[in-house]
Amino acid sequence: MTKRIVAFSRLKQPQLDQLRQEFHVDYFEHLDSTEDATFREALGKAHGLIGSSLKIPASLLDAAPHLEAIATISVGYDNYPVEEMTRRGILLCNTPDVLTETTADTGFLLIMATARRAIELAEFVKRGDWQAGIGEPQFGSDVHGKTLGMVGMGRIGAAIARRGALGFDMKVLYSNASPKPALESALGAERRELDALLAESDFVCVTVPLTPETEHLFGAREFALMKPSAIFVNISRGKVVDEPSLIAALEKGEIHAAGLDVFEQEPLSPESPLPHMANVVALPHIGSATHETRLAMAQRAVDNIRLVLKGKRPISLVNEAAWSRK
Ligand code: NAP
Repeated sequence: MTKRIVAFSRLKQPQLDQLRQEFHVDYFEHLDSTEDATFREALGKAHGLIGSSLKIPASLLDAAPHLEAIATISVGYDNYPVEEMTRRGILLCNTPDVLTETTADTGFLLIMATARRAIELAEFVKRGDWQAGIGEPQFGSDVHGKTLGMVGMGRIGAAIARRGALGFDMKVLYSNASPKPALESALGAERRELDALLAESDFVCVTVPLTPETEHLFGAREFALMKPSAIFVNISRGKVVDEPSLIAALEKGEIHAAGLDVFEQEPLSPESPLPHMANVVALPHIGSATHETRLAMAQRAVDNIRLVLKGKRPISLVNEAAWSRK
């Protein structure tokens, strides 16, 4: 029997062709909702599901009685009902590692762009406002030699910290679920409780995953603890931040600026004041969005689903317990 896969986004022709050599593939290039009737019909026969950027509710699994695995084309997996998948023995595979360096580049881009006001001042030139030598109104803040506070010191957090410590001579503080002794030796990083990190850091950079514990980790209290000169960078997930509190902290001058790749609601609502604030650099969730990395992520997801549907262990598995149940 040829196994069936439902694919729903971020796959290019070569990867679809690769899957089609071994499986029957139903491809939904522009799927906005899991309520789509054709999608649900295909899911009813599917053994594998592959795609990204779509919330998969636990109830959808009832419509997928043969499902063996979901391969998400992302490292974050907050869109998936992991517990329910594990209970049903459905594997969840993700794409760590291949996007770490690119996402860290984006994180550092936000650090640099906010500190040196690169986007705002490029607009100033474009508008023709550069009429005389620049002065204090256009000055930014140094990045090198400052204190970088990493909230989350996993793969991406460590890669940003490495850039800061080794490339920009920054002092690195970190707050993380577990200690990271190897990074403490390699980068001179020091672990802090979150409150102490917020009070000491010039740059606070968030790279924790979105979980029930990290949802709204940053609210009015946390922004109030930060230095008025501090720059806040979020490259993880929008819901880690209570956005109205961030907006209020920026407006009141409780913090100096923010560099944001992710938002509570994506795409960002046109009503949001954030992209209109001079001290905010807002990017459209492009952390891993380079040609090379998106290709590597899609290939990793394809490799994961191929392995599982052939009875083998995938390269990157989120719910180990589901594998043990097989
Ligand atoms: P990772 O290696 O799993 O790192 C996450 C780190 O957060 C781990 O070190 C973990 O601690 C720590 N952590 C988890 N919960 C915590 C908590 N409640 N308090 C403090 N620390 C906590 O993941 P990654 O590959 O670096 O990716 C991190 C996140 O970045 C992803 O989940 C995703 O949401 C986001 N991301 C965004 C983009 C983008 O386009 N903007 C791209 C890629 C990823 P332990 O080490 O103790 O487990």
